[in-house]
Amino acid sequence: MRPSFHPRLINGPFNDPGLFIPFVFQNRALIFDTGDINGLSAKDILKISHAFVTHAHMDHFIGFDPLLRIMLGREKTLSLFGPAGFLKNVEAKLSGYTWNLAEKYNYPLCLQVTEVQGDFTLSREYRCRDRFEPQQDPVKQTFDGILYSEPAFRVSAVILDHRIPCLGLSVKERFHVNIIKEGLNRLGLERGSWLSEFKQALYRRTDPAALFEVNSPGLADKKKFELGDLAGQIARITPGQKITYVTDVVNSDSNRKKILEFARDSDHLFIEAAFLHKDRDLANKKYHLTARQAGELAAGAGAKQFSIFHFSPRYTDQESLLYKEADEAYKLYA
Ligand SMILES: [Zn+2]
Ligand SMILES: [Zn+2]
Repeated sequence: MRPSFHPRLINGPFNDPGLFIPFVFQNRALIFDTGDINGLSAKDILKISHAFVTHAHMDHFIGFDPLLRIMLGREKTLSLFGPAGFLKNVEAKLSGYTWNLAEKYNYPLCLQVTEVQGDFTLSREYRCRDRFEPQQDPVKQTFDGILYSEPAFRVSAVILDHRIPCLGLSVKERFHVNIIKEGLNRLGLERGSWLSEFKQALYRRTDPAALFEVNSPGLADKKKFELGDLAGQIARITPGQKITYVTDVVNSDSNRKKILEFARDSDHLFIEAAFLHKDRDLANKKYHLTARQAGELAAGAGAKQFSIFHFSPRYTDQESLLYKEADEAYKLYA
């Protein structure tokens, strides 16, 4: 399968957590957690359309400032999501600056912020033009586990326990469209931007009998095909890619049960491993996982691949022990 997302941890395992998820062939990205994001280029930061924050501890949220700094003055909407209290967190950040000239910007940034409160969400808009002062009350909507969705993918969240509510996050492609090279060759077509329109048409469940116009780079004129017929010749549909991110959670029965279900069949699970298992009492006290617990959860959820991060500084120069412990646990239970 040619993946649609190429997730990567922004920092090394001892630095702030955060997952950058760029879309292949699209100038766009999601981000899970906004800790220190200096490892991202401005070009990458500008690709971010949706930012999801597990909780507002400083190591997961300090990157809000550079994110805002780079996006300010752009005609852009940035959507932000977080746990209960997140609207207040964002408002407090915004009120820390003076915005008297912000309404004069030619390209006004808009922040759409949503917090998850059990079985409902609260959303509110903050516009640069209004000096980021909200003009309306928060809008309440029911929350059924899906935080955000588009025809091609959706982002789900589960509320986990870190002594405060902390979101587990997952992005799942609806299905994956593989383009068959021989099929393109047979029809005399070449790869181009028309393929992303073609995929969007499939994700939108467009009528297969509808005519689809192909503007292939190698063609003098546009060619028309029935969408279903074209799909039959150049595409193979496979299950969508699933990427899950779990961090800052205690190893309680309730968390374990929720994580196993939430991360089920992930193609790639990113999971914290703050401590070695010999220090599990400390891990419990600090509401974090051990490397062994991370490996067991990855195996239990049937994750095809997993990566650990968010190591305690007490293991500086000993990171191999954490990787080894997690791998052994994964192999034992997979
Ligand atoms: Zn943390
Ligand atoms: Zn935390």
